[in-house]
Amino acid sequence: MGASTAYHLARRGLTNIILVERDTQLGAGSTGRNAGGVRHQFSDPANIALSKESIALFARFEQELGFPIDFWRHGYLFLLSTEASVRTFEANVALQRREGVDVEWLSGARAAEVAPGISIDGVLAATFCGADGVADPHGVTMGFAKAAQAMGVRLWRDAEVTRIVVARNRVEGVDTTRGPIASRMVVNAAGPWAGEVGRMAGIDVPIVPERRHIFIAKPDGDRSWDDPRYRGETPSTRVLVIDFDTTFYFHREGGGLLFGMADPEEEVGFDTTVRWDVLPRVTEVAVARLPALAHASVSHAWAGLYEMTPDHNPIIGASPIDGLFVIAGFSGHGFQHSPAAGRILADLIVGRDPKLDLTSFAFDRFSTRSGRGESNVV
Ligand SMILES: Cc1cc2nc3c(=O)[nH]c(=O)nc-3n(C[C@H](O)[C@H](O)[C@H](O)COP(=O)(O)OP(=O)(O)OC[C@H]3O[C@@H](n4cnc5c(N)ncnc54)[C@H](O)[C@@H]3O)c2cc1C
Repeated sequence: MGASTAYHLARRGLTNIILVERDTQLGAGSTGRNAGGVRHQFSDPANIALSKESIALFARFEQELGFPIDFWRHGYLFLLSTEASVRTFEANVALQRREGVDVEWLSGARAAEVAPGISIDGVLAATFCGADGVADPHGVTMGFAKAAQAMGVRLWRDAEVTRIVVARNRVEGVDTTRGPIASRMVVNAAGPWAGEVGRMAGIDVPIVPERRHIFIAKPDGDRSWDDPRYRGETPSTRVLVIDFDTTFYFHREGGGLLFGMADPEEEVGFDTTVRWDVLPRVTEVAVARLPALAHASVSHAWAGLYEMTPDHNPIIGASPIDGLFVIAGFSGHGFQHSPAAGRILADLIVGRDPKLDLTSFAFDRFSTRSGRGESNVV
């Protein structure tokens, strides 16, 4: 979010910007630990708008920003196993189609053709959008950052913001471990840590961290799913499959298979240690949906943080402190919305019309009880 915002501000002629990252490299937070999925299939029209704009930029990213992002448009397949989910998706698909997104209803049998190897036991229906896909979060972050730097944006790595200087409700700058920065505009793009950064300015930014795991599985030790002996056991494309009612999801990642699932017992916290005790619960669900995983082994795993807001939508825009903006809280689907979100915040900062109803993303929506919230979260 920080790199995208800096890029879009620079394109609007505002180049006196310092992008501050406390780590020694960019993308070491949530962005470097995500599954790379990009989809149009959301329940809030504001998120569908972010997806349409962002996916359009991903499609021309390399050409426009000169950085490869390994973008595969092989679709997202949602498998639905309860009547309640089917009803929810009926409303969502109708909305997505009204917004111009081509989403199909598939039978279980047809879903198994799109994603060979899945078991369709208990699947009542499925939805598929072929314009969804996966891309490389590292490439996107570096693309934005390098293009911003080429336009004059400075990058401070290994620099932690320790204080936000506020006087008479107006921001005046920040203190960092590399020294102070005087500025009448500060953007809080701290992802799961945005609540902590908000507290530095004395405001409550309602974003909490939640650990999520990703596992990489290979067949029979360290072989590749591309090996002809495993043909048909997993999709050969990068289609992203989500078993909506369990939240188990997977997609092909090189010769391996990337998978994850939400843990309802996970508590709020910043710990990103891999909890291997979670794996048996995940594999029980995973093997039922993708039987080939029964003879696979997990070659590696990592954990990252979702940045959750109470209604699962982000905050994009001004905060109660003059000059302090927030772009955070994407609740587990932020990588894919970084192009549009950064463009929108840049427009707001330079006083341009962002051309989108931002009620769903307003800072004050929690107190005014406005905004629809997002229900299609995994
Ligand atoms: C397991 C997992 C799977 C996911 N899958 C997907 C997916 O498929 N598709 C998708 O769109 N999204 C996915 N997400 C969500 C996505 O990763 C996030 O929404 C997105 O990366 C948020 O980006 P960000 O820039 O807001 O936060 P971050 O990438 O976390 O960036 C915030 C940065 O701020 C820095 N920072 C924090 N505090 C300070 C400070 N005081 N001073 C200086 N720097 C500071 C951090 O070091 C960090 O680099 C997933 C997340 C996880 C954990």
